Amino acid sequence: MCGISAVTGSEDIVAILYESILNLEYRGYDSCGLGVVGNGNVTVRKNTGGVEEVNRKEHLTKLKGKTGIAHTRWATHGKVSRENAHPHNSADGQFSIVHNGIINNYEDLRDELMAQGVVFKSETDTEVMAHLLEKTFQETGDIEQAFIQSVKRLEGSFAFCMVSARSQQTIYCVRQGSPLVLGLGTKSNFVASDVNAFLQHTRKALVLEDGEYATVTPDSVTVRKTADGSLVSRKPIRIEWDAETSRKGGYAHYMLKEIFEQPQTIRNALAATQEGVERIASQIRERRDTYMMGVGTTHYVAQAGQYFFSSLAGKYLPVVSSDEFVDLAVVGPQDMVMAISQSGETYDTRRGIAHAKDQGARTASIVNVMGSSLSMSTDEVIMQGSGPEICVVSTKAALAQMVILLRLALETGLQEGTLAAEQYDESYSHLKALPDTVTAVLNERSGFVRNLADKTVGYRNWLMLGRGIYYPMALEAALKLKEITYLHVEGMAAGFLKHGTLALVDEEMMSFFLVPTPEEKELNQHTISAIEEVKARKGPVIGIAFENDKRALKLLDHAIELPPTPPLVAPLLELVVAQLFSYFSALKLGRSIDKPRNLAKSVTVG
Ligand code: GLU
Repeated sequence: MCGISAVTGSEDIVAILYESILNLEYRGYDSCGLGVVGNGNVTVRKNTGGVEEVNRKEHLTKLKGKTGIAHTRWATHGKVSRENAHPHNSADGQFSIVHNGIINNYEDLRDELMAQGVVFKSETDTEVMAHLLEKTFQETGDIEQAFIQSVKRLEGSFAFCMVSARSQQTIYCVRQGSPLVLGLGTKSNFVASDVNAFLQHTRKALVLEDGEYATVTPDSVTVRKTADGSLVSRKPIRIEWDAETSRKGGYAHYMLKEIFEQPQTIRNALAATQEGVERIASQIRERRDTYMMGVGTTHYVAQAGQYFFSSLAGKYLPVVSSDEFVDLAVVGPQDMVMAISQSGETYDTRRGIAHAKDQGARTASIVNVMGSSLSMSTDEVIMQGSGPEICVVSTKAALAQMVILLRLALETGLQEGTLAAEQYDESYSHLKALPDTVTAVLNERSGFVRNLADKTVGYRNWLMLGRGIYYPMALEAALKLKEITYLHVEGMAAGFLKHGTLALVDEEMMSFFLVPTPEEKELNQHTISAIEEVKARKGPVIGIAFENDKRALKLLDHAIELPPTPPLVAPLLELVVAQLFSYFSALKLGRSIDKPRNLAKSVTVG
C-alpha cells in the first residue's frame, strides 16, 4: 500500500522528509505530497505523479520547517487527483494527516460530519479523520485525546501520522493493521511505513504493533496502547539490512513478501466497495450474459469465478481469455463484459473491452491500479486495493481478485435467492476468517513446503491436477510453477487425465494434486480416484490435503497437510500453498524469481 512518513528535528527537516518519500515510492506512486508545520497552520503541497515530478510542479523542497508529514499514494478511495492526494487538512488547517490503508466505515462518518455542516474537499476515506480531529479537539481541547478518540471511531485497517499547528514539534501516529515503524535519530526522530524512509539517517528502529500509538518529538518517543492509554516499553532494534533487502521488508524476494502480504490483501479485498459489488451483482442478474475476461493468471482467476457463480448464484458466466475474446465472444447491448487485470493496462484485455463497447455491451472491471486505462474506460470498477505488486508473477493481486469474485457471486446469490441470508452470513464469516488461517499456514507450513520443494525439484515434467473449483486453482498453480522454475508443467482437470494425458505418466512424471476437503465428498472421492490412477502407473504424487482426510493422506507420496478448512475458502488456501511451493522450487533452482526470463509485469503489447 502507500508510503507514509513523518520527521521532527531540531533543524529544518524538509530535505530529509522529501528524500524519505523518494525511498518509499515503490509502495505507491500515483500522487504524493508534503505537509510542514509553520506559523499557525500546516502548509501542504501535493499533486499527481511520481515524487520527482510533483517536486518539479509544486516545489516541495522549497518548504521550510522542523516537523512534517509526507505520503506517496496508492489510491483506494477516490480517483488519482490533486484533491485526493495526501496530506489532508482539517477545515481550520490546524490538523494534517497522512494515511495508509482503508477506513471501512468512512461513509457513515462522512454522512455524520456532513450533517454537522462539514464540507468535504476530496473523495477519499481519509478525509473523515481530518474533520473528526477538528471536532474532537473542539470538545476535548487536548490534541492527544482528540487523536485517540478520533482513531477509536474508525473501523478498518490503517496507519496514520498526524501533525498539528497547535503542537509544533510533535508527531502523533497510530497503527491498526498497516505497518508503522519509528526511527530513532540523534537530532531528529522519524515515523514511516517502513525503514527505507530513514535508513540513511538512523538504523535504530522501534516497530509499532497493531493497537498502539506513539507521540514523537525531536528528543522523545512515547508508545501507548490505543485501547487504554497504558505505556508500552519496547527495546529498539538495529536494522542491519542493505537498502535493497529493506525494500523487500527483509524477505529474499518480492514474490515471497507478496505471498506473505496476502492476509492483508484479502482484508483489503473484503473492504472494497460493497456498493460496487451490489451494483455489478444486480447487473449480472439483469444482463443476458456476463462474460468474464482476463489473460494469463487473470484468465484462471476468471475461471475460478465461474465456479463461484455456478455454485453460489446458480448462474453460468462465460469466460473467454482476453487474447481470444474478439474472435470468440458474441456480445451485444444485452450483455456485460467484466475484465480482470492487475495493472489495468493489459493490451489484450483492453482490446477485448474496446470490442465489447463497440458492440454496445456494458462493461465492468476488477483492477488494482487506480487511474489505469481499464479503470477509466469501464462503466463499473472495483478497485481491489492490493497495493503495488512488484514481482512479475502475480500472487497477492490474483488472490484478491478471487476474493472479490467470491463476494460478487455471494451477492448475486443473495439477490437471486439461491442463497439464504444465513448461508450468505456464514460464507462471509468464513471469508473473514481466511486471513488468519493464511497467516497461520504460512507461518507453520513454510519450512515443510521448502524441504519438500528441495526434494522434488529434480523432476523435469509436472502435472498439476484438481477437480471442480480446484481445477482453475491447479491451472494457476501450474502457471506459477512454470513461470518461475522454467520446468514443464501442465495444469489439467483431474477427471480429464484418463482421457489421454495418462499416457505420459511414469516414474519420471510428477503429479501434484490439489485435493478438496473431505466435506466435498464427491469431489474428494473423484480426486482420490485420479490419484489412484497415477499411482497405478507408478507416477510419484504430491498433494495438498487436509488433516482430516485420512484416505488422501495415506495415498500421497508427499502430503502438505492443512488444518480443516471450510470448503468455500479451502481452494484459496491451497493456492497460497502452491504459490509457496513454486517459490521454493525456483529458489532451489537458483532462478531469477522476481524477474523470470522472457516475461514482463504488465503486457501492454498485442
Ligand atoms: N485509502 C486512502 C486513499 O485512497 C489511502 C490509500 C493508501 O493506502 O495508499 O487515499
